[in-house]
Amino acid sequence: MSRVSARALIAVAALMVAGLVARPSGQPAGMKVLVLVDMEGVAGTVTADQLGPAGFEYGRFREFMTREALAAVTAAKAAGATEVVVGDAHGNGENLLIEQFPPDVRIVRSWPRRLGMVAPIDATFNAVIFIGFHASTNNPAGVRAHTFSSATLTRVAVNGAEMTEGSWAAAVAGHYGVPVIMMSGDDAAIAEVRKAIGNIEAAETKRSLGFHSALTITPQASADLITSSVQAAFARVKDFTPYKVQTPVTVDVSFKHYMPAEVLAYLPMFERTGSHSIRYRARDMIEAEVIRNFIEEYRPDLTP
Ligand SMILES: [Zn+2]
Repeated sequence: MSRVSARALIAVAALMVAGLVARPSGQPAGMKVLVLVDMEGVAGTVTADQLGPAGFEYGRFREFMTREALAAVTAAKAAGATEVVVGDAHGNGENLLIEQFPPDVRIVRSWPRRLGMVAPIDATFNAVIFIGFHASTNNPAGVRAHTFSSATLTRVAVNGAEMTEGSWAAAVAGHYGVPVIMMSGDDAAIAEVRKAIGNIEAAETKRSLGFHSALTITPQASADLITSSVQAAFARVKDFTPYKVQTPVTVDVSFKHYMPAEVLAYLPMFERTGSHSIRYRARDMIEAEVIRNFIEEYRPDLTP
């Protein structure tokens, strides 16, 4: 190799390195981001009137939910995210107004999904953002606080520690080495997730005044706050580490009703730990999530 071509190669290498380090927020090039969007933590949502198709305000609140998701997507792209996947993680999974997103965004819709709300997480992602998240079912504060299903589950714990949907999703992403960098939701939801996984950036969309009441900011204020919070997260993206739980994983699930615990305990993989509760062991959080998902999704009359 001649001295000239070696020098040229060094110059090209230097340019490539400069290209990586000169990005606006110092984040690595080619960031792939998963934005998971729930609805209970969206500014203004307080009751079923906003949260499902039967509610008189649902149509408007789909707009607000979409606006908050879009704020996160736009800020992430402006900060250097090159690939964004949005997961519609509320209710029927068909809430987000997909035509409002940029054409290079892909959106996960409807259920079931093998990895539940965290689908299609894998090791190719670099960061996860939670929008519109809520507190867990045993939190005495938090608007519409529940864990996965208010109708069926009263507690989900991993290795003895009670989980929120946020900390569970963070642990599934953490299995693949992907950190959660930012969340939005009410004050109770943010406090819970931060306590579990660390001091991520957060946008407080409302203060919980009760299960069905809140002191909320407006949709526009919330979108603005989410924008600045996502910017702040990308500005220190190297601070965030994946949330990893110890493996193998012991999962405790308590049900609202008696029969799910009784019938699941027919299977040797489930230990009956109480009248309403079972325990299972999983190799890792992926297996833990697939089993949890099965427990919630399976019915022998599933169609088609
Ligand atoms: Zn929801």
